[in-house]
Amino acid sequence: MPSPPVQFRSKGDAILNGVKSRCPQCGEGALFDAWLKVTPECGRCGEELHHERAQDFPPYITITIVGHIVVTLLMIAEASYEWSMGTHLMIWIPLTVILTLALMQPVKGGVVGLQWAIGMFGFGGSEEQVG
Ligand SMILES: [Zn+2]
Repeated sequence: MPSPPVQFRSKGDAILNGVKSRCPQCGEGALFDAWLKVTPECGRCGEELHHERAQDFPPYITITIVGHIVVTLLMIAEASYEWSMGTHLMIWIPLTVILTLALMQPVKGGVVGLQWAIGMFGFGGSEEQVG
């Protein structure tokens, strides 16, 4: 199935498919070969996905999301309870690690979906097009 021209691609659907670790075009094929390794092409529709260059953007987004969640909860807990430093460390460090690991793949998938939808880095049919 040939990919639609960039102007007809839905950014919302592509991002949502990416967040679900699915091909941004068909929404059925797997987007990742491994945890954060994007598959070169979709196993279902054959869309080339090797153009992705998410690079450091997914970690920035993940850090922002996790930071807002953890710091907000920490401030609420600090204002409401008198926990020891050990209790704080036992809660916030594992929560930070778990949230970060849980969000990295969906966030990267969403970024790749957006790159595909707006035709960045060759997703639009030309290697020269950068968005
Ligand atoms: Zn596909």
